[in-house]
Amino acid sequence: MLSGKRSVVEVVQYFIKSIESRSSLNAFLEVFEEDALAQAKQQDEQLQAGKTLGKLFGVVVGIKDVLCYKGKTTTAGSTMLANFKSIYNATAVQKLLDEDAIIIGRLNCDEFAMGSTGENSAFGPAKNAADESRVSGGSSGGSAVAVQAGLCHVSLGSDTGGSVRMPASYCGVIGIKPTYGRVSRHGLIAYASSFDQIGVMANHIDDAALVTEIIAGQDDFDSTLADVEELNLSNLKEDYSPKKIAVFKEVIESEVIDMEIKAQFLQSLDKLKAAGHIIKEVSFPYLNQIVATYYILTTAEASSNLARYDGIHYGYRSPNAKNLDETYVKSRSEAFGKEVQKRIMLGTFVLSSENYDAYYTKAQKVRRLIDETTQKIFEEHDFIISPTTVGVAFPIGYKITNPLELYLSDIFTVQANLAGGIPAISLPIFIHPKNNLPCGLQLIANKFQEANLIAFSKYLFNQYQ
Ligand code: GLN
Repeated sequence: MLSGKRSVVEVVQYFIKSIESRSSLNAFLEVFEEDALAQAKQQDEQLQAGKTLGKLFGVVVGIKDVLCYKGKTTTAGSTMLANFKSIYNATAVQKLLDEDAIIIGRLNCDEFAMGSTGENSAFGPAKNAADESRVSGGSSGGSAVAVQAGLCHVSLGSDTGGSVRMPASYCGVIGIKPTYGRVSRHGLIAYASSFDQIGVMANHIDDAALVTEIIAGQDDFDSTLADVEELNLSNLKEDYSPKKIAVFKEVIESEVIDMEIKAQFLQSLDKLKAAGHIIKEVSFPYLNQIVATYYILTTAEASSNLARYDGIHYGYRSPNAKNLDETYVKSRSEAFGKEVQKRIMLGTFVLSSENYDAYYTKAQKVRRLIDETTQKIFEEHDFIISPTTVGVAFPIGYKITNPLELYLSDIFTVQANLAGGIPAISLPIFIHPKNNLPCGLQLIANKFQEANLIAFSKYLFNQYQ
């Protein structure tokens, strides 16, 4: 990543200046200027003394503001945690630091990672660097914009239903969500615990691969981590070998995809066919149910996860409360934004005893069907391919008044999180001819197939360079 021609201090100074000059993007909620420079200085001294540093020395990383970094504020984009200081490092952050990465700051996001546009942050939306009147995508909007605008080398985000891949698509960067159970969630502020996974954004696939490799692996603090072979993603070669790739008939027939993006997607399929890959149309009959299933299950988990922010255990406490009940009600009403409140209410509703079977149990069953159908597809295919999003980034404020349409924009990303948390990547491949805005191509692989996914992504990505 670094040529060795500049000192680490110079590199960090360069990024700090760039962040200042693009402050209108609202990508960073805080820049850790002093710490980053001190760390850089120390690395320069160690290098001069002939010491060997970690794999990420001099690499400047931004972290989504849902990841704990010891001694630093972590807000999850919410007033609820505006004054919360982390008392330990998230495992992913610790693993970066262990390899001498320089954490340059914390990045804006939708409140508690709930959103598809970045507009739900209590600190204002991050703006798309390709056109500042447009959304960044969400929920890891700041993470995508920071990489897009060259404000850090790589960034971490989190992906519960597409939050790494969707902003990556809108901002024209690479976004990878590893398999659920690959990266420890210790120190990641929870949204929906059976879906959440930390992911990586970068402009170069080798950078994304290396950082994914580093943050993956065993951790005593997360019992949901899978006991699998260590991930080895650095120095992977492009994989040219012919692949069997599934494309959903329902995606090809879908009328919600932007026409120009669909045309480019179909062209990319033709190109793959011409190169000897087998592209097979398969039916995925749950595409119409997938978004509803996702929102029933994630709101249920969120309502339980967010119960702890009650003004007593954690978070903001209303100064206007006169008794215990008021403390709960006012603290939560004053400090949670509208979207988070809506989801807590939805989640409480689907978990209530009268509605549990009709919604929650049913959605669990559909999740199972989605998982089984996806597994069947992988019996005969290496990957599933689709556009990452139905179109390009839209103007800020455009869809926020139409929540259903907004939820539907997650249609291609939520499958990976519902179907056993399989890994997926968004590659910046399409460019809309009318406005020159980017849109991603999504590849999904089976569980723990990150190495295959990245080796083939390298090939695919290079075809388009
Ligand atoms: N847009 C989805 C949601 O709002 C995904 C969010 C995420 O992956 N964190 O739930």
